[in-house]
Amino acid sequence: MDKPRIAFIGLGTMGSGMARRLLAAGFPLNIYNRRAAKAEPFKADGATISDSPRAAAADASFIVSMVADDNASREVWLGENGALNGVRRGAILIESSTLSVEWVRLLAAAAASRGCELLDAPVTGSKPQAASGELSFIVGGNPAALEKARPALEAMGRAITHLGPTGSGSLLKLINNFVCGVQIASLAEAVAMIEHAGLDRASALGVLTNGAPGSPLVKAISGRMTVKEYTPPNFLLRLMAKDLTYAAAESKRLNLDSITAPAALKLFEQAIAHGDGESDLSAIVEQFR
Ligand code: NAP
Repeated sequence: MDKPRIAFIGLGTMGSGMARRLLAAGFPLNIYNRRAAKAEPFKADGATISDSPRAAAADASFIVSMVADDNASREVWLGENGALNGVRRGAILIESSTLSVEWVRLLAAAAASRGCELLDAPVTGSKPQAASGELSFIVGGNPAALEKARPALEAMGRAITHLGPTGSGSLLKLINNFVCGVQIASLAEAVAMIEHAGLDRASALGVLTNGAPGSPLVKAISGRMTVKEYTPPNFLLRLMAKDLTYAAAESKRLNLDSITAPAALKLFEQAIAHGDGESDLSAIVEQFR
């Protein structure tokens, strides 16, 4: 049976790998990126380049968005040339960007008013997992819509967890990244203490990474902090600041008022002020050097 046509919006670090996986799996693909140059290389792989999200969505059964933040998502879905202005009734929207729960719920309502369903389907994993089709999707929304979308998600990921109603995927993604952000902020302070004290850095980090604090994240990020490998970024530092901002707001909404998310955010904001916002998030340590 012919595979359904998919529109893919946002060909950044993550989206470019994901779109290539869909092409490799044989899905006909319309692609759109705000800066058109990023879309050009996909032509050779058989993608149809669209000049707006609206045009990309016009003949698609599924529309995937993988853009920076709430503002970008609002623009590509609801802007003048947004995908929801061109979408067919019955199409399924797959929003994989890391966004606020509030915005995702508004977007789901806008989709419903046009006869479409929205799955919030953010991902864990980074650039390498996007390129190899090994992302993990955390999904909120109607289970029947998820079943229809499953073949497309399976082309991009190795795990799909359905959490519950609209917004639950986004909420867990924010919780996931909040835990990651706090770990990275603590690690940056730990590396600074090691370096300022003049301890042997390789030995000290060996103890930390092989001991109880040595999560896969701490292992990977401490390596990049050591060799100062910040470009090309796996995950832009400013995007983690965005995730911590959204996570802290969610915590407030739940009357929990997180202490550690704002504390970690402060370090990421200082890193942005230091000029490291466009680097990999491991550059958070540079403010202490
Ligand atoms: P990225 O490389 O910065 O790409 C961002 C994408 O959003 C680009 O296609 C960009 O278009 C587009 N964009 C930004 N503002 C826009 C606007 N106002 N209108 C239209 N398009 C806009 O980011 P990424 O690393 O791929 O991340 C994408 C999403 O996935 C983010 O929500 C991020 O938090 C999340 N995420 C990232 C990772 C990771 O490890 N990188 C992992 C999991 C989840 P241009 O090319 O024109 O700028």
